Parts: sequence; C-alpha cells; structure tokens
Amino acid sequence: MDLELLEQTLARHGQPRFRARQVWGWAARGAASYEQMTDLPAWLREALASELPFSSLQLQRESRACDGTIKARFATRDGHPLETVLMRYRDRRRSICVSSQSGCPLDCTFCATGRMRFARNLSASEIVDQALHFTRVEEHPRYRSAARGDHGAHGGHPATPRASGQGERAARPLTHCVFMGMGEPMLNLDAVLAACERLPDLGVTQRRTTISTVGWIPGIERLAEHDRPLRLAISVHAAEEALRSQLMPVNDRFPLRDVIDAARAFHARRRRRIFVEYVLLAGVNDRYEQALALARLLTGPAAGAYPAARARPAGGPGERSAAGPRPGARGSSIFKVNLIPYNATIAAGADPYRGSTRESIAAFQAALQSRGIPATVRLTRGRAINAACGQLAAEVA
Ligand code: SAH
Repeated sequence: MDLELLEQTLARHGQPRFRARQVWGWAARGAASYEQMTDLPAWLREALASELPFSSLQLQRESRACDGTIKARFATRDGHPLETVLMRYRDRRRSICVSSQSGCPLDCTFCATGRMRFARNLSASEIVDQALHFTRVEEHPRYRSAARGDHGAHGGHPATPRASGQGERAARPLTHCVFMGMGEPMLNLDAVLAACERLPDLGVTQRRTTISTVGWIPGIERLAEHDRPLRLAISVHAAEEALRSQLMPVNDRFPLRDVIDAARAFHARRRRRIFVEYVLLAGVNDRYEQALALARLLTGPAAGAYPAARARPAGGPGERSAAGPRPGARGSSIFKVNLIPYNATIAAGADPYRGSTRESIAAFQAALQSRGIPATVRLTRGRAINAACGQLAAEVA
C-alpha cells in the first residue's frame, strides 16, 4: 500500500488526517481489501478501491514447500520481478526474508540473484507490501472468514484495529524480518529504513529485524549512527582477501579488513552482536585452516581474549547447531557466525561450486567454537522451491 498516495487520495476526498492511520491499521492487521474496513464510510471504501491499488505489488506465483516455507513471486507495477520468502518455525516464529531491490547490481559468484538483470531499488511501500502479503497469508481466522464472505463460521465481523488481547496478537503473526532476499539493502538504505519504521505495526520490531550486507561500508556506518536497534549481518564467506575478492568482487572496493573494522565500530556504538554469514563451498572455503583464519579475523581486541586453554572443542560431527556459545567462549564474542550450507543455483553440470559435506560443516563449526566464536549451522529451508538463500532469481512470467 502506497501510504503517500493514500494520504493524497484521502485529502482529495476531504478526509481528516486520522483516516490514513485507520486504513493503515487495518492493512497492518491483515485486512485483504478496503471492503473489510468496516469503520470507514461505504462510499469511501468504494472510492479507495477504485482509485488506489491495495498493494504496490502484484502476486504472480506462490510456491509452498513441505517444511512450511512459502515463496511468493511478485511484480512491481512497472513490471519488475522480486521474491519474498516466509519461513515458519515450530516455536511459532514467522520470519520473512524480504527483497530490497529487483535483481542485484553486485555479482557474488555463488548467488543466483547476481545473475539476473538488476532493475531498480524497491520503494519503502514495495518492501512493506511484501510483509503485508504474508500477514494476509497468516492472518487471523476472523479476517480469513470475512475475506471468504463466511461471516458465520468464526463469529461475525473481522476484529477492528482497536481490538485487543488474544485476537490482536493472533492477527500479527510475523515475528522476524531479514533483508536477505534479492538485492543489497545498503544500496537502498533510505527505503529500507523507512520500511523498518512500518514493520513494528505488523508485529516485527526493529530488534527482530536484520539487515544483511556484502560489507558496504558507508551503509554499515550509517546504520551505526541510525537511532534504532536494527541488527546487522555481514556476508563474509572467506577470511582471506584474495579468495573473498574472487567470490565477491565487491571485496576489491571494500576489503574485508575494513569491513570488519566497520563492524567493530558498529558494535562499539550499538552494542548488538553482529551476525557473520558464511556459505560453505566444498574445497573452496571450508578447510580447517580457513576456519581458524576466520576465527582469528573475528577475535580481536573488542571481542575479548579467548585463551586456548579455556576453550574446549565443540560437540561431535553429528551436531547441527549449537544453542549459544560453547564452554570457554564466555559469550563475549561480538560476532556470531551463521554457517550456510550452499544451495545450488544453476544446473549441476554448470555449477562451479559444490556444497560442503555435513562432516566438514560440523568440523568448521567446531573449529570456530574452539576459538570462542559462537557458530550455528543454518537450517536449509525451502530448497525444493528454490526459496533458499541465494536461490532467488525471478523472471516475470
Ligand atoms: N546482499 C546482501 C543481502 C542478500 S542476503 C548480502 O549479501 O548479505 C543473501 C544471503 O544468502 C547472503 O549471506 C548470501 O551470501 C547468501 N547466499 C547467496 N547465495 C547463496 C547460495 N547459493 N547458497 C547459500 N547461501 C547463499
């Protein structure tokens, strides 16, 4: 929903200012049309329906994986493709992975998005509309019944925006947001930050919102100065400059050492632990010495000292992820590494990369943990529908 256009449209109809908040309140709670906004005059609902598209995005396709992951492919009004993923977890977390751009101007060699054409930055409304779509998918049953015209089944009209208690909580099902869909959020930071101001109305607080970057230093610096508790994630993928430049050409412009310095400065300012993302590629960046090099890079003055004598190797190779720091880690590292199993992005014959084995992933994780760096292995979700990390590359159908 384009909120600027909404305000203009309401003003044209001589409506008081509170109307925009009222409409937004309904949308944020998962209403699927103006028609459902029952405390608006009927004529106004009709006027809005004919003058203002309910969403700035058109849903083109939705794929569902059996792990509960849903991928939505949208087109902007001017025809540019983008994708968004909803991940559902058993503990009721609902995390959306949103796109900040249609395509991506950077060319990380292992990422599908980098291979499609870069179109443009998305607007704040286009970012928020991705989240609104999934709020509607997951919405409260009362909205669903209203949308189907099935008013009897769940006790009548949809909850009003003023509703409180259980109903309201259920109507805000999203809990987390990561800017890990298409694009580089730091290249579109104004719109990203504007969208982050809206997401709390959908239940996604800024503390539970993570901005992931290739290491675009001006963006990291700006985020450090930004007065909101947003989380920062950095895609590192290699601890050696030369290898990183090979995998991610942007490293020539912003070398890893400087990126890590910027991340430390971010931590000094904001006091929030930083996620380091590391895609494990067999024979490329998954060797034991490379894990130690990564640990050295991330251990430093600000992270505290980790005497080897205190550290103990982490659990055996079967271990998938560790909840929190290992014994000896003391929980004081400013970085936490997310090890990401590689997701194939092109046909096996043409793909220069292979994912690391479970055993090497576990060994890499254990090596980091033994040096006091907390490390988890990201569960791979949505692979069957090409919705996993790095697999987003939509073409408009
Ligand atoms: N441009 C930002 C946001 C995109 S995030 C960034 O790079 O951080 C997408 C995440 O998925 C990044 O950590 C990226 O490195 C990772 N990724 C990309 N391609 C992947 C692949 N084929 N398999 C697994 N992860 C991948």
